[in-house]
Amino acid sequence: MFAFDFDHTLLDGNCDLMVQAKYSVEPVPEYFKIVAKSYGVTKYMKEMFRFRYPAAVGEREFQSILGQAPWVPELPECLLMLKKLGGELIVISDANTYFIRLFLKEHKMLKHFHDVIANPGYIDSQGQLVIRPYMNNLECQMSSRNLCKGKVLMDYIAKRQQEGQSYRFVGFAGDGINDYCPMYRLRSGDLACARKGFSIGDFIASRANDGVLLRAKLVFWKKGADIIKAVQDKLVSVGCLVVQP
Ligand SMILES: [Mg+2]
Repeated sequence: MFAFDFDHTLLDGNCDLMVQAKYSVEPVPEYFKIVAKSYGVTKYMKEMFRFRYPAAVGEREFQSILGQAPWVPELPECLLMLKKLGGELIVISDANTYFIRLFLKEHKMLKHFHDVIANPGYIDSQGQLVIRPYMNNLECQMSSRNLCKGKVLMDYIAKRQQEGQSYRFVGFAGDGINDYCPMYRLRSGDLACARKGFSIGDFIASRANDGVLLRAKLVFWKKGADIIKAVQDKLVSVGCLVVQP
């Protein structure tokens, strides 16, 4: 099973910022900044969208922005290869489900994902984009208020186990500091894939300096092929893949 973060891991950018950049005609009112500070980013985005996008700006505009949004290099090929190798794919992201699903759908990749776990987003009856926090995380200091990716990952694995699905190993790929929690919870034999040149690398290093190490194998990646290579090496090492001479 392989879980992917979304912004800067699948999508080469940040979906909220991409949508905002397209429609940033009006300055952000001061009270939004107060909302962001006191309620966190999900509430902020919700207010932002309510302000920026009257019902007339809706699905089609989002579709066009996300349909043209770029992938991180070689990620589509990577996803297809992981599927071919028998992997189950999910997204765990602090963005919203509406943008993530739309991006994947527009690029004909949504069908390859078993689940998209993120802050629920949808277009309401007035054509307004609504985003809700996924959870109210008060326990995990490493994660954001709306979503602890580590808990989400562990809950997902437990749920699938109850459904009779177990995994030889679990992979997680991400770029940000909030991707540390799921990587930290992975076991030895799993793969923690940190995007090279992004904040997760320095964070893992600073934790390691404090003596906190990951149990999973740490892989730095730049493009999809690096993740494929790590997974293939892993499968070879557990005798699940025979390399053709
Ligand atoms: Mg990210």
